[in-house]
Amino acid sequence: MAELTDFIRRELDKVKTKYKEIDGVELISCVPALVQLKIVQTTKKEIVTCFLFPEDYPRNPILIELKSKYLAYKLLDGLRKVCEEETKKLIGQQQILPIVQFVKNFIVDNPLCVCSEEISNIKKRVLQENDEIRLKQKTSQVVIKLKQDAYYLNARLTVPNDYPLERTGVEITYHNFPESLKRHFLSQVEEIARKCVQPPLKKKPKDPPFEPKPALQPIVEYLVKDIVRKYPSEICPVCNKPVLPSDPKDVVKDPCSDKFVDRLYCCHLFHRGCLDAYMKKPPFTGGKKCPKCGCLVFHENWKLTPELSEARWAHQEARRRELAEVVDFLQ
Ligand SMILES: [Zn+2]
Ligand SMILES: [Zn+2]
Repeated sequence: MAELTDFIRRELDKVKTKYKEIDGVELISCVPALVQLKIVQTTKKEIVTCFLFPEDYPRNPILIELKSKYLAYKLLDGLRKVCEEETKKLIGQQQILPIVQFVKNFIVDNPLCVCSEEISNIKKRVLQENDEIRLKQKTSQVVIKLKQDAYYLNARLTVPNDYPLERTGVEITYHNFPESLKRHFLSQVEEIARKCVQPPLKKKPKDPPFEPKPALQPIVEYLVKDIVRKYPSEICPVCNKPVLPSDPKDVVKDPCSDKFVDRLYCCHLFHRGCLDAYMKKPPFTGGKKCPKCGCLVFHENWKLTPELSEARWAHQEARRRELAEVVDFLQ
């Protein structure tokens, strides 16, 4: 360990008196063997900076270690290396407070540091070659551009200051899926974002106490796996043909068209004409179920009870028989 010189003594005194001038900094220890200062920006954005005086300080750079309960190890390791480069510029001078200020500025200027691990997971495990991710540190936003075949979906996610305690914002900024589906996409991602920060309304007695969870990765995973990778090749369970046209320009906008794309609450897609025909056909007992997943069909156009569907079917059949008899008679 370094010899306790007047220089070090003076620097320790300065740290003790001046650390408060850097906003959000707490002094943990300030002795020749170890100096520790904690920088707290928000609940999860906190870093403890640890300093050891080397031999022949300040002609040698001070030794730095960064610790955090929440920030990713990889981020801290990278930041430590940058700090080491900074200390080289401070040779011959007091180094502790300038480095603390440097780390503090880093947290303020890079608000997305709080989700660095999620961003790296998204890059490595969720996105593919044709997709893009861009970080906008100034506005604390993550922009993703997803692509599958000829279909696109771009979204902008806003990471709040007190992430993950506050709710993540999501906007779909551009897409070429049927416009009618955008509402469903948004309500799903908003629900994911909400569930990450709000405890469930009905709490089960055995549930552990609610903890807010990071929402960035779950939202991107949903957009990628449940929408962009899935829907361009989704097959209509009634006619067994793709629900969406291979060219998004051919997406049907007229809700009265048989090829208009309908989505059930179970997330499965149908052609409106196919769903219509399926809903009017028996069996009706127990309600009509999605042929793909067996969930009860719940759709605003189909609020029929099984009894009413049965009665309508019987009525149509009677009409058909009557007509058939008339046709027979004419032959
Ligand atoms: Zn169909
Ligand atoms: Zn289904």
